[in-house]
Amino acid sequence: MTSSNASTEGNGPLTITDRLGRPLRDLRISVTDRCNFRCRYCMPREVFGADFAFLPRSEILSFEEITRLARIFADHGVQKIRLTGGEPTLRAELPTLIQMLKETIPGIEIAMTTNASLLVQQAEKLAKAGLDRITVSLDSLDDDVFRAMNDVNFPVARVLEGIEAAQAAGIGPIKVNAVVKRGVNDHTIVPLAKFIRERGLILRYIEYMDVGTKNGWRMDDVVPGSEVVEMISKELPLEPMDAQYRGEVAKRWRYADGSGEVGVITSVTAPFCGDCTRARLSAEGSIYTCLFAAAGTDFRALLRNGSSDEEIGLVIREMWGMRDDRYSEIRSDNTVHMPKVEMSYIGG
Ligand code: SAM
Ligand code: SF4
Ligand code: SF4
Repeated sequence: MTSSNASTEGNGPLTITDRLGRPLRDLRISVTDRCNFRCRYCMPREVFGADFAFLPRSEILSFEEITRLARIFADHGVQKIRLTGGEPTLRAELPTLIQMLKETIPGIEIAMTTNASLLVQQAEKLAKAGLDRITVSLDSLDDDVFRAMNDVNFPVARVLEGIEAAQAAGIGPIKVNAVVKRGVNDHTIVPLAKFIRERGLILRYIEYMDVGTKNGWRMDDVVPGSEVVEMISKELPLEPMDAQYRGEVAKRWRYADGSGEVGVITSVTAPFCGDCTRARLSAEGSIYTCLFAAAGTDFRALLRNGSSDEEIGLVIREMWGMRDDRYSEIRSDNTVHMPKVEMSYIGG
């Protein structure tokens, strides 16, 4: 039953590798394409306006479908699942999905990326359901800057309350992601670093990426991770840290005084495709083998046409076996304008 790129030890999960020798290890699951924010770099309101056609319920995978597919992916080497969106906490009954995944896939680690807007109401239920980790997106501590970036006038204070609720519920470790856009929030990098360090949380600065085709990306708007490190280092000296595992996307730096760490995700200026072990499932059931892919593989059709686990597994092995994506390494002026899936469909 194993194809040429698959191997297994005993009765454990398969390890399948792609054409560049990269194993399949992580699955990001977008549980909705909707969001209550309109971040300028992700879902600009001129495009995602009142008349935008989001997916109807019938086209979105059910919890049963997601859980079954995730189990088959786990049989093919997936060890970590990240729930994302759109905004994952907008999906009704999300804790039920977490519980189903935990019960169905022994040992699976489940993380979630969220804008934290609904965490005050949901943190406890998410924790009880078994959510292991959480990443909160917060681009600035400056209220005016943050309100302008999310473009729905959402205040920083409520994100901070959401983080506190997640801490109180015992979900941890908590990470904070901040996308940096030149001239927009780069002047607020150091205060955010100080604030997060004082609270013992982990901060990652993300280079603004040319995901999708709707955010009007320009290289000039990217603040290289090296510049971010330099800015912080001037006030809070930093030392480089070694990677913890293969595929770790953040380059990590520790504060020289031992007070914690900060990372930069340099997908534009120093890409890491060679270690990319992630597959992404869109809310409507397509798998994308790269954040910048134009098309995915439709698994919803297989889930709904009576295909067996074995038949679905075969498609996973074929898809991963053919994978040779390395968009960020070959990015050029031409690729920036190529058709690509939107971030809000596959969740980063
Ligand atoms: N709504 C959730 C959130 O914002 O955390 C989850 C989905 S969001 C698409 C996942 C992550 O992608 C967020 O941390 C967001 O900041 C990041 N992101 C979105 N557009 C981006 C872009 N153009 N470049 C870099 N990161 C981006
Ligand atoms: Fe929504 Fe997250 Fe995209 Fe912002 S980054 S618009 S919160 S999906
Ligand atoms: Fe992975 Fe594609 Fe990003 Fe490279 S560009 S790291 S292959 S998602």
